[in-house]
Amino acid sequence: MPPVIGLPDLELKSIEYDKKIYVEARLRERPNCIRCGSQRLHIKYSFNRSINHSRLGNQVMVVRYRSHKYKCLNCGRYFNLKIQGVLPKRRSSESFRLEVFESHGGGVSQKYLSETHDISHATVERWYKEFIKDRISELSGRKVPLVLGIDEHFFSKKKGYATTFVDLKNHKVFDVVLGRSEKSLEGYLKKLPDRDRVRVVVMDLSSTYRSIVRKYFPNAKIVADRFHVVRLLNQQFLKAWKQFDPIGRQDRGLLSLMRRHYENLSPEQEKKLEKYFAKYPYLKVLWEFKHKLHDLMRLKTLSKQGAWKKIHELLPMLDDLKQSPIEALKTLGETFYSWRDEIGRMWRFSKTNGITEGLHNKMEMISRRAFGFRNFENYRMRVLALCGWNGVINRTRKYI
Ligand SMILES: [Zn+2]
Repeated sequence: MPPVIGLPDLELKSIEYDKKIYVEARLRERPNCIRCGSQRLHIKYSFNRSINHSRLGNQVMVVRYRSHKYKCLNCGRYFNLKIQGVLPKRRSSESFRLEVFESHGGGVSQKYLSETHDISHATVERWYKEFIKDRISELSGRKVPLVLGIDEHFFSKKKGYATTFVDLKNHKVFDVVLGRSEKSLEGYLKKLPDRDRVRVVVMDLSSTYRSIVRKYFPNAKIVADRFHVVRLLNQQFLKAWKQFDPIGRQDRGLLSLMRRHYENLSPEQEKKLEKYFAKYPYLKVLWEFKHKLHDLMRLKTLSKQGAWKKIHELLPMLDDLKQSPIEALKTLGETFYSWRDEIGRMWRFSKTNGITEGLHNKMEMISRRAFGFRNFENYRMRVLALCGWNGVINRTRKYI
């Protein structure tokens, strides 16, 4: 008789189709004593086991077999029959639970799974948590990444912000920690083993994070994050515009034109913009200046000399900004000046926290699907289990 697929210790006796698919099975071979390996076993007593095993089409497959408690006549040891793919006392096989976990992780709701797999909502939740816990314990031995991204994201109204540490090389969340001040991150960072090995930290222009990184990642070079640099540039530029023409700033069509990169303007749009600039000649100067700056900030993977040359293009522009009577531009000039080294390194580099931003979107979805998390540790576990790895259970690990 052939073995039951996924349960190699059992062989098929018969199949009955009803509301579920009932597979009658029996042991393929008598087991050996788990202590001494003897075949001289006495069956102490027997009982029926009924295991949810897998889904076939729209039906759940139930495998039924007779299980035994043995006594070894050689060494006297008592033991229960164990078969591969089914853990003691469970009423479903490991592959069945894996199926539920993966579907739920992929977005299938508890309600839906409870119907397709004929289990309760609570069971879906419990299995899901068990797998997550498993994943976390596997992740706990990871090394701190060589290229680390640090960014904040909003957690909850009550608890405020959290800091995300991202492995930028592998596009995975390394960890999330509640808070964004040195005080709230201190405890975590002090305990982080081999943080000396971090070579590069990419982050937004936050002076708090900068001082934290200098203190806790002594061998890391800090790189400004292009994504945030460009965003800040755009924000300050829009603020400056507002000061010149508050009414024009509210015009949505105009806003879209002003935001657009000059390369993406159609001839018609260009004309529109020129017409607007005719009224405010200074805005044109500002607009051109911003684009020059923007083009600079988009540079990447430059050579050392290349970056050096660009820094000397940047510095006089920052001087101009710092002397500007417009508050938004002055702030921009001062911020960029204080981050000139990190911006110079950004040009040598290609990674950005755009990766982190993508992960943040995923994390927000996790939170939304759980209707928000009150407990940060639960949130952290969920995030690590879903964004700390690729979401697919390792195929070399046996679940059957
Ligand atoms: Zn024995």
